[in-house]
Amino acid sequence: MAVPKHNESKAKTRSRRAHKDKLEEPTFNFCPECFAPKRPHRVCLECGHYQTQGMDEAQQIIEVWEV
Ligand SMILES: [Zn+2]
Repeated sequence: MAVPKHNESKAKTRSRRAHKDKLEEPTFNFCPECFAPKRPHRVCLECGHYQTQGMDEAQQIIEVWEV
């Protein structure tokens, strides 16, 4: 059975994870309808605008996906 030549120190493991697990700032852009900040590829929480469609049409698209 293969045996590791040396084990990685706790400090090395933790220092790597300190960078890897760092939280990223969420990206956002502005709604073209009401200019409220919104997440990309999400319905606007202020007015329900989604790309060129309103909330109703976006809801229909979601229903199609779920089938
Ligand atoms: Zn909006």
